Amino acid sequence: MKRITVFCGSSFGNDPVYQSTATLLGQTLAKQNIELVYGGANVGLMGAIADGVLSCGGRVIGVLPHFLQSKELAHSKISELILVDNLHERKSRMSELSDGVIALPGGFGTIEEFFEMLTWAQLGLHKKPIAILNVNGFFDSLIAFVAKMVDNGFLKMEHQQMIIISDNIEELLEKMENYTPPKIEKWITKS
Ligand code: AMP
Repeated sequence: MKRITVFCGSSFGNDPVYQSTATLLGQTLAKQNIELVYGGANVGLMGAIADGVLSCGGRVIGVLPHFLQSKELAHSKISELILVDNLHERKSRMSELSDGVIALPGGFGTIEEFFEMLTWAQLGLHKKPIAILNVNGFFDSLIAFVAKMVDNGFLKMEHQQMIIISDNIEELLEKMENYTPPKIEKWITKS
């Protein structure tokens, strides 16, 4: 993997472990020569991960919609800032630019971005690994909810298993490197 997209909160959350983990993930990416693609802002965990990469001499590409430029305060020190017209374009550019995706804790925006990448993978539109860094058990209830989708017949187990999960950064990156996409796509023919 040469570039990874990280989706994460535009807030810090209320436990310092979220910020320190975002910084550590950024530092680890830089040390492993993996470039960061992220939302381009200098707020919350988004700013923390970018600063983590930059502090270890890594490269950061931000993708920010024009209308969020003032609200999310574009990060002034990143290697490259790509301005786009809207959130849809942001997600597709971030996906095109990277070889995999990691979600850190966040709010609606983070979860929306994460699930959109999963739905694209489920439809066979891309084959990139999609991972959750489960800091502090933050994603436990979301993981349980996805299991409920399978139990209730709304999701195939093969698609549940696409989600790579770990609370350890090195292990997560290793699992992403070794990821094999499922052969089964969501749509099946009537026959
Ligand atoms: P949040 O997790 O809500 O703090 O947001 C994290 C990032 O997701 C921020 O850069 C938001 O601008 C972005 N975001 C918020 N809503 C959406 C959305 N509907 N689609 C894509 N990105 C979003």
